[in-house]
Amino acid sequence: MIRPNAHSAVTENVDVAIVGCGIAGGLLAGRLARDGFRTVAFEKRPLIGVPVRCGEAAGSREEVSHFVPVDENWVVAELDAARMYAPNLTYVERQMPGFCLMLNRDGFDQALAAQAQTWGAEVRTYHEVKSLLWDDDRVCGVQVKNQADGRAYDVKARVVIGADGVETFVARWAKLSTHFKPRHIHSAVEYVLEDVDFPTSRLEIYVGKEHAPGGYAWVFPKGVNKANVGLGVHPTMAKDGTARDYLDRFVKKFYPRAKVGKLVAGGVSGSKPLKTMVGNGVLLVGEAGHQNNPLSGGGIMNALEGAEEAHKVLRDALEKDDLSKGFLQRYDKAWHRRNGHLIEKFAVLRQLFFKLDDEDINNVIAALNTLVGASPGRITDYAEVFKTAFKAVPGVLWKTRKVLW
Ligand SMILES: Cc1cc2nc3c(=O)[nH]c(=O)nc-3n(C[C@H](O)[C@H](O)[C@H](O)COP(=O)(O)OP(=O)(O)OC[C@H]3O[C@@H](n4cnc5c(N)ncnc54)[C@H](O)[C@@H]3O)c2cc1C
Repeated sequence: MIRPNAHSAVTENVDVAIVGCGIAGGLLAGRLARDGFRTVAFEKRPLIGVPVRCGEAAGSREEVSHFVPVDENWVVAELDAARMYAPNLTYVERQMPGFCLMLNRDGFDQALAAQAQTWGAEVRTYHEVKSLLWDDDRVCGVQVKNQADGRAYDVKARVVIGADGVETFVARWAKLSTHFKPRHIHSAVEYVLEDVDFPTSRLEIYVGKEHAPGGYAWVFPKGVNKANVGLGVHPTMAKDGTARDYLDRFVKKFYPRAKVGKLVAGGVSGSKPLKTMVGNGVLLVGEAGHQNNPLSGGGIMNALEGAEEAHKVLRDALEKDDLSKGFLQRYDKAWHRRNGHLIEKFAVLRQLFFKLDDEDINNVIAALNTLVGASPGRITDYAEVFKTAFKAVPGVLWKTRKVLW
């Protein structure tokens, strides 16, 4: 349970002020508090994780439990297979026992915040950070507004963390160059569908211009007869309406009798990793630091991994009392080694994907089917996957030359 925190209007001093108590902010708050640093996480929403804006598909039980003990209160399904449909509705399917947990994201975010509190962090919900405090060229705290009573107050901090998601203001205030170019953002929308007759342990993806130009549609099961059904489109490629228009057509075509629940909408980043996520006294983590996968849009595991890398560098920086940009840049390097180099490759693949037409995708999926048939088990050799895909599309190298060279 998240406890409301009582506090006064006077200026306070803390070691770490975290803006946003989502996935990255929640994990990082806990890890730093456990080390003994006075850590406060500010969350502008009254209830952590609510409303949910997510497809809720995360990593395996083992991967998730590395960060927080898995709790059946927020795990709704464990998936064993993934199926990808081509535009012509042929598909490739992969059996991967336990590869993905389907979460209740609100419960998951709340579990991370509760873990942070257990380890000594303070979590202030309904408290919105409005600006940064500066000491010359160094960030030295935040100005916060208590949304409940309208009161504003200052919190001085040795370091400020921007864990404020895709719409990050911390990055802008800190003058870090993180602006998304329009071509890097997908529009994503999703419904919770009920009364759906759907396999409970397999997720499905649909690609092609009819369903989701420049992106994909997803059907992620959430237990019996319930699924998150959504899609992301690239706005410049979606000629037949808004993302929601595409989703309405998709639902009408595949699940005409489903009970349509609440709509979730949001932007999803598809950008390359940032050159730097740090400044003097400030650091970005999670989607604020463009850490999600630009091809899939997935960011849950990346936000956790980003927070883990940030924690190691921040612990050393706080102990040595060096919160300079120069020291914090160790985090840029650590992130690049762990995931950034892969994100770079996925960003190139995203560009390649944009160049393929529906016929190309049909051919790629047919070829991948041959590969899957030939190698049972989880495909881990991505080079083999892409070699197969390239071979399947005659002239693909010519089509994609501007992306590759
Ligand atoms: C429609 C949709 C579907 C998705 N589906 C998936 C999926 O199935 N799997 C997956 O892995 N990823 C998915 N993602 C991406 C995933 O949700 C994000 O990558 C992930 O939430 C990033 O975590 P984060 O901690 O960086 O940011 P967030 O989870 O966005 O947390 C940021 C927090 O900061 C708070 N905040 C912002 N500004 C302030 C402020 N000024 N003061 C105080 N608090 C503030 C916000 O309220 C929020 O709680 C999806 C995204 C969308 C939009």
